[in-house]
Amino acid sequence: MNIKVPQDHPRAESLRIRERLIENYIKGIVAQAGLIAHGRGEAFDYLLGEKTTKPALKAIKAAAAALLTAKKPVISVNGNTAALTAEDVVKLAEVTNAKIEVNLFYRSVEREIAIKKLLENAGASEVLGVGDAASARIPEISSERRRVDPRGILTADVVLVPLEDGDRTEALVKMGKRVIAIDLNPLSRTAQKALITIVDNVVRAMPKLVEVAEEMKMGGVDKCREVLTKFDNERNLAESIKIILQRLSKIVEKGEIINLGEKPF
Ligand code: ATP
Repeated sequence: MNIKVPQDHPRAESLRIRERLIENYIKGIVAQAGLIAHGRGEAFDYLLGEKTTKPALKAIKAAAAALLTAKKPVISVNGNTAALTAEDVVKLAEVTNAKIEVNLFYRSVEREIAIKKLLENAGASEVLGVGDAASARIPEISSERRRVDPRGILTADVVLVPLEDGDRTEALVKMGKRVIAIDLNPLSRTAQKALITIVDNVVRAMPKLVEVAEEMKMGGVDKCREVLTKFDNERNLAESIKIILQRLSKIVEKGEIINLGEKPF
C-alpha cells in the first residue's frame, strides 16, 4: 500500500492515520469493521474541530484520577487502538500500574496474537486476554467481546475502553466497574453509558492521558479523589455537544466555513 501523503496536504494528519489503519488492516490487526468505525469517528472529529476540547481535557483528568486511585485498573485494547496508540497504551499502563488486555468484537486467535506482538514491540511486558486466557464470560453480551481474562477485565475495578461498543460498556458498568471510554461521538451508547467519557480522538487523548497521569501521580491520591468527586460526566458530555452546536451555528450565521483549528473552545 504505502501511499505517500504530501506534507502540505490540508488533511495530511488525517490521511496518515487512515494509512496507518489500512496498513494494520493488511497485517491482520484491524478488522474490516474497524475501518468503518474510524470513519464514523472522523466525522465527529471534524465537527469538534479536530482538537482536544476543554471538556475532553476535564474528562482526561478525571480518567487519570480514576486509573491512579484504582485497585485493579485494566486497559482494554482492540485492533484500532493497537494500530493507533500502542506506545501510549504501554506508557499509560506503566504510569498507572494497569494491566493490558486484548478484547475484540471480531475475535480470532491470529488477530489476538498479532495485537499482542504489536503491544510487546511497543514495550508491553504482559498482555492478557489472548487465546484460552480469555476464559471468563461477561453476562448479557452475545458477541465474542464477552470473553475476558479472569486476571484482567473480569476482576478489574476500573476499565479504560478506548473505542468500545455500547452493549459491552453497559454490561461492564452493570458489573460494578468504573468504565472510562474514549469516543469521538458524544451521542453513542458507549459515550452515554460510560462513567467517564473522553470525547476526543484516541491519537490525541492517549498521549495527553499519559502526560496528565504522570503529573497527577506527583499530586497524590487526595487530589485525585477531589478531581473525581467534582467530575460530572453528563454535564461534560453536554458541553461537548454544545461545542458542535456552536461551531455549526457559527457557519450558519456567518454564511462561511469555519477555518478548522481557528479558535480554542
Ligand atoms: P455504540 O454501540 O456505542 O452506540 P457505535 O455502534 O457507533 O457505538 P462502533 O461502531 O462500535 O460504535 O464503534 C465506533 C465508535 O468509535 C464510534 O462511536 C466512533 O465515534 C468511535 N471512534 C472511531 N475512531 C475513533 C478514534 N480514532 N478516536 C475516538 N473515537 C473513535
